[in-house]
Amino acid sequence: MSLMPDSPQPQHPPHTPARPSDLPPALQPTLLPLPAFADNYIWLLHNGRQAWVVDPGDAGPVLKALDDLQLSLAGILVTHHHPDHVGGLSALRPVLQGPVYGPARESIPQPFTPLRDGEVIDVMGLQFRVLDVPGHTSGHIAYAQQGAAERPLLFCGDTLFSAGCGRLFEGTPAQMAASLALLAALPGDTQVCCTHEYTLSNLKFAAAVEPGNTDVLNYTRHCQALREAGLPTLPSEMALELRINPFLRCSEPAVVAAVGNEEGAVAVLAALREWKNRF
Ligand code: ZN
Ligand code: FE
Repeated sequence: MSLMPDSPQPQHPPHTPARPSDLPPALQPTLLPLPAFADNYIWLLHNGRQAWVVDPGDAGPVLKALDDLQLSLAGILVTHHHPDHVGGLSALRPVLQGPVYGPARESIPQPFTPLRDGEVIDVMGLQFRVLDVPGHTSGHIAYAQQGAAERPLLFCGDTLFSAGCGRLFEGTPAQMAASLALLAALPGDTQVCCTHEYTLSNLKFAAAVEPGNTDVLNYTRHCQALREAGLPTLPSEMALELRINPFLRCSEPAVVAAVGNEEGAVAVLAALREWKNRF
């Protein structure tokens, strides 16, 4: 961890999610990022016996973790239909003992339980609310933990990345702006569990957009140290993202100026996304 007192790193050790206070300590779910492919993470939540995974693009890392930790697979959450998020489903079904939840408005490999905006699901005693977050894909959903005393979890797929956002493959800038606004309004101590390790390259772009943003520079040093130690930069924290992520800062005068004074947050986001695509 950085020793700079004002550096914008998360205030808490990253890998112990919040839990309802009535849950016995032995059942505190543990959160693990399983690296997959070149830069994906498959998030795994477990209570020592059961596990859930999010966006298993590859079954291999999940099966290995289940075996290493002697866990049964109790359920799967899917955020959107891209192969690097659903590619492991068929190979996991033989060991799966519970549901596959996924976005109602996308076609992901059947069978799955389709979820719509506002529905709440139970994951080992934790409650997650489904949020529609179109933009990267047209039916993309996110899972936001409800009722946690602190540090609620957010599984946001490829909508929000640390210091960045997903490419607009199917949605419009207006949709992505609304989706990011929804996520930005979650509690500041929300643990942001993104699906890709893009943080350092996103921070390079963030520094180009806002060269005077010292939070970006400090956080870059922090993340460089993590990556040099072979550690993930995730989960991030929402309050930190509000300070470093240009796509959440489309109303900041410095960001507006950087894209040539486009008018309105949607136009600024569209210009930022175009710039990032070429960056
Ligand atoms: Zn994707
Ligand atoms: Fe992806």
